[in-house]
Amino acid sequence: MTTAQKSFTTPEEDLIIQDAFRDLLDGYIASNHRKKVEIIERAFNFAREAHSGIRRRSGEPYILHPIAVARIASQEIGLGSTSICAALLHDVVEDTEYTVEDIEQHFGPKIAQLVDGLTKISGGIFGDKASLQAENFRKLLLTMSEDIRVVLIKMADRLHNMRTLGSMAPNKQYKIAGETLYIYAPLAHRLGLFSIKTELEDLSFKYEHPEAYAMIERKILESEAKRSSVYNDFSAPITRELERMGIKFEAKARIKSVYSIWNKMEKKKVPFEEVYDLYAMRIIFDCDDHSHEKAICWQIYSAITDLYRLHPDRTRDWISVPKANGYQALHLTVMGPDGNWIEVQIRSRRMDEIDEKGFAAHWKYKIGDHDEESELNAWLRTIKDILDNPEPNALDFLDTLKLNLFSSEIVVFTPKGELITLPKDATVLDFAFWLHSQIGCHCIAGKVNHKLVPLSQKLNSGDQVEVLTSQSQTPKPEWINFLASAKGKTRLRAALRKIQQPAINRGREIFDKFLEENNIPLTNDVLTKTLGIFHAANRDELYLMLGNDEIIIDKSLAKALRRQNDRQRGVLAKIFRVNRSSADDAETDDEEVTKRPPVNMKQTYLLRYDSNGSNFKFSGCCCPIPGDPVLGFVDDNNEVTIHTVDCPRALALKASYGQNIVTTEWAPEVEGSFLAKVHIEGIDRLGILQELTHMISTHLNINIRRLDIEARDEVFNCELSVLVSDADVVNTLCDNVRSINGVTKASRI
Ligand code: MN
Repeated sequence: MTTAQKSFTTPEEDLIIQDAFRDLLDGYIASNHRKKVEIIERAFNFAREAHSGIRRRSGEPYILHPIAVARIASQEIGLGSTSICAALLHDVVEDTEYTVEDIEQHFGPKIAQLVDGLTKISGGIFGDKASLQAENFRKLLLTMSEDIRVVLIKMADRLHNMRTLGSMAPNKQYKIAGETLYIYAPLAHRLGLFSIKTELEDLSFKYEHPEAYAMIERKILESEAKRSSVYNDFSAPITRELERMGIKFEAKARIKSVYSIWNKMEKKKVPFEEVYDLYAMRIIFDCDDHSHEKAICWQIYSAITDLYRLHPDRTRDWISVPKANGYQALHLTVMGPDGNWIEVQIRSRRMDEIDEKGFAAHWKYKIGDHDEESELNAWLRTIKDILDNPEPNALDFLDTLKLNLFSSEIVVFTPKGELITLPKDATVLDFAFWLHSQIGCHCIAGKVNHKLVPLSQKLNSGDQVEVLTSQSQTPKPEWINFLASAKGKTRLRAALRKIQQPAINRGREIFDKFLEENNIPLTNDVLTKTLGIFHAANRDELYLMLGNDEIIIDKSLAKALRRQNDRQRGVLAKIFRVNRSSADDAETDDEEVTKRPPVNMKQTYLLRYDSNGSNFKFSGCCCPIPGDPVLGFVDDNNEVTIHTVDCPRALALKASYGQNIVTTEWAPEVEGSFLAKVHIEGIDRLGILQELTHMISTHLNINIRRLDIEARDEVFNCELSVLVSDADVVNTLCDNVRSINGVTKASRI
């Protein structure tokens, strides 16, 4: 490849290109990477030739974009020659005739692999369809777990696109800015690329809220003089003291980013003038020996607290326990001379570089060390885990991942003192699944700080956690509610799938036998009604509940079903069939292929349920009963599935399939029995259980399906499943139960 100019660039532009490339090379040569200039020059010439004649939307020659991306990768992230070459070539396969094979031929397999990864994730994460988003995102992460450099270069690409977003069409600006804020900034944070994260956020914010951005920027400028005089008053005594102590250091005022000022104003509902922690003082000290870093941090800390009053609970020791993204520093907040709190961040030069450049800086300090068990690797393992146990539904996959991208973290200890990072709200069960699938599946309880706790116990940072297991324990579907970590959920689902099949088979046998004994043919209506009564979303779920003895079918069900069958042969059935289908009477259990009349999405959909069946389905994730506020999800077959309005699944559906959601109302006369769960808590005393059951079954005449009671110390917890006709009955039940002496809580689950 030669530099022979086939391109239509002007001599002035050629000069600009040469300068930009020279700048990239100079920065690289000044870094402490090995000097592989020749291959970088070849990559530049190759890319330049490949993109010749092409211009960006702004009008500048295209090659300036890959050069800028390579420069960010090298100078702002700290990557070496392989990444610089891949960055220079990152759009070649996507935008020109060259293939990955061509790249491999010229530059070897490693660079080709990176370019291939970058080409695969070049499309926007937000396609037109929700499932496409997930697929792209998945590709992104798949590649990422193979070589993290793909994502780091992608970050550089995104950052340059954001810096030059002004020349894009306004509708594209909005989309790209949203995507950046939603996916890339959190990812940058995860990777420890703190300054890139801040810049991405600020740039997104600038395009999404131009006026607010301009206002905050202006106010920062206006308040600068006052701020710097306060800062000087504050920092002078500290500087003097540290110099006296003989510490080599650099001190600077760090102003909060525009985006985080805006966030604070929004969250606290305060004007700019009342954001008091606008800036922090950062002290970066030089230290040749790692082992002295911690001691120096605390020496500086002690010097500052001698000068200023310390805020009692705002000291953060990220040195003993670094953040999951690798961040290390000692933070404290003291009262400044003007009476406002000021944060001081103390860190060594090495820590500072890790903060600015993220994990790439780690590599710089540990070149060639592949065994580094960093927190980042732990995160990558989690992603691999999810990819190894793929969920059937791509949307669920995205939801699971978002969960982990946005939630903050906690750090807990194993009995051996090993540190484990888990998402906020993680429980003993999350911890167990984190350790191993088998430990999770057999978990019966835990010990947190040596105290016995249930497996649903939420963990806090700093907890020491031990898992108690039993070989007779098996994973339960309801455990999903106790799990906050994506890894835990994935592992539980995989385990459940493996063990549920025998129970489903057993449930099917029980149900078939029951119908046979009672001489009831298995029609679609029999099935619909049974599913409705037990709130099962589908046949497998019903069989599973039966197979696990979670529900019992007895004569009362037979009676209800027979009554329906008898009536169905009457006149009502004929009217009913107009809306349903003639296949309904067929005594086979074929899948329903009925074409239903379309649902009018603009009108409130009236939920009917009577002895003939229903015009809706229960979803299985939440258990609404007549009277509850519910919404309907209309599928392709015009079948309406209902969810309570606050069901998490419903919220997800609303976000992704808003056009399929119909408002619903219960028809005034709804017949039937519905399963509702009630949670009761109280002080344990002799006879209280008897009083409880007497109150419910005799006094209120409500049918109890299941009763689980657990007493620990003085307290009892009871979960009750009852069959009721509507929500009012449950409310009456709770009111009455609360009047029992000793009961402290009674509420529907
Ligand atoms: Mn690009």
